[in-house]
Amino acid sequence: MKILKFGGTSVGSAERMQALVKLVVNNQSKLVVLSAMSGTTNILVEISEALYERDAAKANGIIDELQEKYKKEISKLYQSEEYLNKADDLITNHFNYLRSFTLDMFTSNEEKAVLAQGELLSTALFHFYLSESNVKSVLLPALNFMRIDENEEPDLKYIETNLKAELEKHPKDILFITQGYICRNAFGEIDNLKRGGSDYTASIVGAALRAEEIQIWTDIDGMHNNDPRFVNKTHPINELSFDEAAELAYFGAKILHPTCILPAQKRNIPVRLKNTMEPEAEGTLIANLDTKVGIKAVAAKDGIIAINIKSDRMLLAHGFLRAVFEIFERYKTSIDMITTSEVAVSLTIDNSKYLKEIKKELEEIANVDIDENQTIICIVGNVPKNKSGFGFKVLEAFKDIPLRMVSYGGSPNNISVLINSQHKKEALMSLNKTLFNY
Ligand code: ADP
Ligand code: ASP
Ligand code: MG
Repeated sequence: MKILKFGGTSVGSAERMQALVKLVVNNQSKLVVLSAMSGTTNILVEISEALYERDAAKANGIIDELQEKYKKEISKLYQSEEYLNKADDLITNHFNYLRSFTLDMFTSNEEKAVLAQGELLSTALFHFYLSESNVKSVLLPALNFMRIDENEEPDLKYIETNLKAELEKHPKDILFITQGYICRNAFGEIDNLKRGGSDYTASIVGAALRAEEIQIWTDIDGMHNNDPRFVNKTHPINELSFDEAAELAYFGAKILHPTCILPAQKRNIPVRLKNTMEPEAEGTLIANLDTKVGIKAVAAKDGIIAINIKSDRMLLAHGFLRAVFEIFERYKTSIDMITTSEVAVSLTIDNSKYLKEIKKELEEIANVDIDENQTIICIVGNVPKNKSGFGFKVLEAFKDIPLRMVSYGGSPNNISVLINSQHKKEALMSLNKTLFNY
């Protein structure tokens, strides 16, 4: 079985949904994972914000507007009265459900139920469209098998057992559809895999089923060498190793959810990135490959906080770093970059939830200085220990940009540089010139 995930733009309009049919219909068995139609999850976030503010008029206004948009799309999507009515009933139910939250206090659990509506709608509408087109498919509710544990990690065993049980109910079928992004948590409540999480769903279900391949279909022809939202000239990369792709995804290449490579990598399942608007384009193959030596791509991750910890007494004496790391561990805050000197250690985090508490505890053992609004620029490729020149080439691109931290040698796949976010675009453009000759 293959897993095919289609992102928001790939299901973003009636025309786009209609175009998917030829990509999913053939005699191979597949599980299709869909995102919400593009823009929907952002609007559901806006609705939730209005609901938290107890501004029912504002929430209802946004809900009405979104419902109108869906009405327009369904009028273009279906031909028959029967399916137009079915789809109209479906969206009426979902939008009335959203309206029901304007009556009372709004909780974070309810917010998660609100955010789940986008994927529930897109999959049901696509399933109806396939039926109307006489294509047999089975809609599998992700909430019956996708589950995260107490640490918000996918519960692979549970997913494997329950997804297989769902599939076994339909032994003769070959086309299955499910929702990306949404899941249940350890308490059985509706939850999600964080923004962009449909890629993660695809990778997790691919791993659970030991799929032949996981395909991520989006609006661009694969992973590019640089972020096309910030630089004009970029090119697609045909092949990446799992490690290279994981670094790029984690450090900001939006085409992939930050942690979606790991499940596929663990079970050695190739991941292919493809463009729905240009299906013939080669795209990117991510697999257990020995890729060419050299730098392949750069990515940028914003919202980074740099913490400098300086002590004149006991820094780098044994036990000091352990004391520092234990503080971060206690607050479940992971560290991305680290650099050390004899008197200080600098590290970065991307989660400010417990920053105040962490700072307070660190101040008991050292002087602490915090810089917010930082960006990690991550340079990714295959850079073996015995090859020279890569560090120089990277740093050359930063000759006019102040560097806050540099991390080299942690892995052969990654060189990371921390800068103030105001210099991000300049840095990406400069790297495009020095590393890729654009
Ligand atoms: P989807 O809705 O299909 O999940 P996303 O918007 O999440 O799509 O991801 C695709 C987008 O990722 C592209 O349109 C592109 O702007 C952005 N992107 C950022 N960095 C890269 C990169 N290195 N290569 C390709 N796309 C990238
Ligand atoms: N719809 C969700 C989002 O917009 C998940 C996804 O598209 O991957 O974040
Ligand atoms: Mg995405």
